Amino acid sequence: ASRTAWIDADRIINADSEPGNWLAHGRTFDEQRHSPLDQVNVSTVGDLELAWYVDLDTRRGQEATPIVVDGVLYSTSAWSKVQAVDAETGRLLWQYDPQVPGIWDVRACCGVQNRGAAVWQGRVISATLDGRLLALNAETGELIWEVLTTDQEQSYTITGAPRIIGDKVIIGNGGAEFGVRGYVTAYDLESGEQMWRFYTVPGNPADGFEDDTQRMAAETWTGEWWTGGGGGTAWDSFAYDPDLDLVYVGTGNGSPWARAIRSPGGGDNLFLSSIVALDANTGDYKWHYQTVPGDTWDYTAVQHMILADLEIDGDERKVLMQAPKNGFFYVLDRATGELISAEKIMPINWATHVDMETGRPVETVDARYDETLAAKKIVPGPAGAHNWQPMTYSPETGLVYIPVRQAPAVYKLDEDFERQPIGLNIGNDFWSPPGEIIDLPEEFGPEFQGMLLAWDPVAQEEVWRVPHPLFENGGLLSTAGNLVFQGTANDELVAYNATTGEKLWSADTQTGILAPPITYAIDGEQYVAVVAGWGAVYPNFLGVVLNADGQRMNISRILAYKIGGGGELPPKPALPDTPPPPAIFGDEALINSGGGLYTRYCAICHGVAAISGGALPDLRHSAYLGTQEAFDSVVLEGALLNKGMAAWDAVLSADDAEAVRAFIVFMANQ
Ligand code: CA
Repeated sequence: ASRTAWIDADRIINADSEPGNWLAHGRTFDEQRHSPLDQVNVSTVGDLELAWYVDLDTRRGQEATPIVVDGVLYSTSAWSKVQAVDAETGRLLWQYDPQVPGIWDVRACCGVQNRGAAVWQGRVISATLDGRLLALNAETGELIWEVLTTDQEQSYTITGAPRIIGDKVIIGNGGAEFGVRGYVTAYDLESGEQMWRFYTVPGNPADGFEDDTQRMAAETWTGEWWTGGGGGTAWDSFAYDPDLDLVYVGTGNGSPWARAIRSPGGGDNLFLSSIVALDANTGDYKWHYQTVPGDTWDYTAVQHMILADLEIDGDERKVLMQAPKNGFFYVLDRATGELISAEKIMPINWATHVDMETGRPVETVDARYDETLAAKKIVPGPAGAHNWQPMTYSPETGLVYIPVRQAPAVYKLDEDFERQPIGLNIGNDFWSPPGEIIDLPEEFGPEFQGMLLAWDPVAQEEVWRVPHPLFENGGLLSTAGNLVFQGTANDELVAYNATTGEKLWSADTQTGILAPPITYAIDGEQYVAVVAGWGAVYPNFLGVVLNADGQRMNISRILAYKIGGGGELPPKPALPDTPPPPAIFGDEALINSGGGLYTRYCAICHGVAAISGGALPDLRHSAYLGTQEAFDSVVLEGALLNKGMAAWDAVLSADDAEAVRAFIVFMANQ
């Protein structure tokens, strides 16, 4: 039998003995995303040039971390497609399309992206937006097994990468914006058989609790929380410690966001916004640390977790580090869950600090908008001070590098909240007149900022920062060449000096980058590769901020660079012509009511104020905008369902759709 792509847990544990490969999502089980390769270094990086590129066949945001083993690069792209590419030449060896139906676009809060696959003993293990986990033959791309991990009657989606944990694979899911109960599941790698499942929030007590852990968690909830699912979905980050045999799960926000709706008598609502340690073999609960008790702001703790051994106060500590959305950087003892330290990495106004006696954040007096009933601008907003874009830890500099940002949002309880069968069910009313909003204090400066931050995790202090033009940028890679690589929203892949933050090299990528770069070597040549492609939730939602100049576009490609690569990209395509908009129609009441509906149902993909981020169609220039009949064929009848545009007739009447059209036409004439 062929031993192609024959990765197992021992090989990942010994990854440093074969630095030319990138064997696991975070390269190693500790997810440090630091490579020992140093051919590309502070002295040679100036000669880094494009080696090859391969075009991807979607125009959506790309977030994948490829795996590289034995000369082949395995990646995923939007719509859960899986690719095998010759890592030396860029030749596409095969692509597998799991045929995710278009309706799943609107059943996902944040786009159809995928963050990558795992490779194990000749198989590529990947998950699909509609909840399937599948194993493909690494040589041929043929399906070996496929299991459904979710109830497809509910809005569970998977965008995260599965991780190998010993002889099993673990996968979570998303959906807390719609009303689901989060869980993670481990499957046998050989057969796909389910080995264990851990629910991140308790279910309906009337159904009986799965175990004592769920009973304990239920004591922190009030009311009929299970009717809204509860949330806590683990949609991105895991880490695995093979010595402790613990798998770490980062959990998400509550469903709906507002605790006043979800758990009206209060409560911490375990295990929302938590890091949970489970026995990797059995799935049994070991410990948890909750970053945001009683979350009400969409402050997930699903963000990247890095395991490292650090000397703290003279002791060698096995730590877990995370910068979740909420703006703090946490260092935990990963054997016990003990909080070692927590400090702010960005200015925030929902909490002042973490009380080290209790381990709990000290909230500001009016942060709970669902109790004050005021509309308040809070930072971070749901974009977080740091989101899914991976960090990196360099053992050589001792620093953690974090793609951080400032991105506030207006929070206001939707006092008329009713669950709907389609669209977001978050309980937050984004449609407040500006005069009624408690603004951000002046000391926060420009509302939206993005930067690369170098952070000392022992001293818990900033070492350097590099500001970016836009707030949403890519994940990170560090290398023994004393470099940190990052792609940016404004179409660049950049290399920085890891010690000083000095910008040493950049390439024009023609498209914004969200995914983290990786590095590998073939025949003595080091490559730096990244999956480029602008899009996904904030680029779509906040085009008003991220695409103010209208220059953003999605060109989805895998790009690979090496010293003296000599390659070139084809010329960047021109932006499409924009025809003049239809004439404004309807009175102020109609346009205003259309604005409210647009903001609830349409803005998450097509952008606040109908301004596209550059990846999805800008509705102000839509060919369907001119007549009610054409507009309704798409909006109510689903003419573009195969592209991911659902029919909204379950929540919008013909009059509603006409109001939405009036709003978009009004915005198109501004
Ligand atoms: Ca969320």
